[in-house]
Amino acid sequence: MAADRLAPRDNGAPDFRKYLHPAMRRNYGRWVDHENIKPGVYKHISEDGEELFTVRAGSPRMLSIHKVRQICDAADRYCEGHLRFTTRNNIEFLLTKAEDVEPLINEIETVLGFPVGGTGRSISNILHTQGWLHCNLPGTDASGSVKAIMDVLYEEFRRDDLPQRLKISTSCCQINCGSHADIAIILQHHHPPRLDHERIASCELPKVVGICPVAAIRPARKGGRNTVEVVKEKCMYCGACHGQCPGLEIRDADTDTLAVWVGGKSASTRGGPAFMKLATFGLPNNPPRWPEVSDAVRKIVDAYKDGARQYERVGEWIERVGWKHFFEVTGFEFTRYHIDSYRFARTSFNISAQARR
Ligand code: SF4
Ligand code: SF4
Repeated sequence: MAADRLAPRDNGAPDFRKYLHPAMRRNYGRWVDHENIKPGVYKHISEDGEELFTVRAGSPRMLSIHKVRQICDAADRYCEGHLRFTTRNNIEFLLTKAEDVEPLINEIETVLGFPVGGTGRSISNILHTQGWLHCNLPGTDASGSVKAIMDVLYEEFRRDDLPQRLKISTSCCQINCGSHADIAIILQHHHPPRLDHERIASCELPKVVGICPVAAIRPARKGGRNTVEVVKEKCMYCGACHGQCPGLEIRDADTDTLAVWVGGKSASTRGGPAFMKLATFGLPNNPPRWPEVSDAVRKIVDAYKDGARQYERVGEWIERVGWKHFFEVTGFEFTRYHIDSYRFARTSFNISAQARR
């Protein structure tokens, strides 16, 4: 096909350069220094001595149109119309005039009603998953529990006196799109999926079979039609199949609970990236304030503040003091479920591009 007949490219990431603040565009790749001048405020200095200030505010992530307009108005007044959202939904306002920093902070705190902070050795905005708004799998309300936890930890966002930066996430199913964090709150299921053979008939069965990481799902015939069955002894209640097919329903308002994991880290600094490990589990899925979850998170944060050395992330602190000490200082019960003895996991089943039967 001739090049002039090709449709405009409409997929993939757009060129980020056109969205940069003009000062960032001018100095791209030429920043020589930066300073965290107070909690929530960074100053970057370029080779030419140009300064760019970043003011970071916490956001509730789900925003009304009215609130988005207020945020944009502030960016128009102080930031030449430029702001950005970080992956943890902090709002970063970028500005070049030092004398505008304090008026902007005042507007963020009094007009927008958001706290300024989340930089350096503080708790960044809590990452929560898309939840009810965009996903068909949630077993709890991630945004609600984030609100409850952040109310408890509000001052840790505004200060930066922790041993090191602290990242928290919540996930409303075990697929855990909230991902790694120093402290992660993740919903847990406690039984295999319930099968609705009518609905399963509308799905692509090889994919449903192929999605199970422990090969617990296998093709079956029921009532003269193709469907699947689940080997209950193998199922580890992960819920991956429910994401593939709504006919395998795993959510259960009566039995689902929440667990708290610790020590995850994506950065390559010091010991490198690390997986999270289970801290406590079986916490009631208890809206609207999930007090048991907030209480468990607060215990971990307090123990970390008391015991970690400067610059140690949560996982590094636990590795140094030992898990026995971690359970002693947090008061969490150590059980047999904390020992990773699961042996059914297959290492090759889900790594092929081919769905297998
Ligand atoms: S954690 Fe699970 S339920 Fe929540 S948004 Fe992500 S995939 Fe959906
Ligand atoms: S995908 Fe997970 S929940 Fe579904 S059958 Fe397999 S182990 Fe059980």
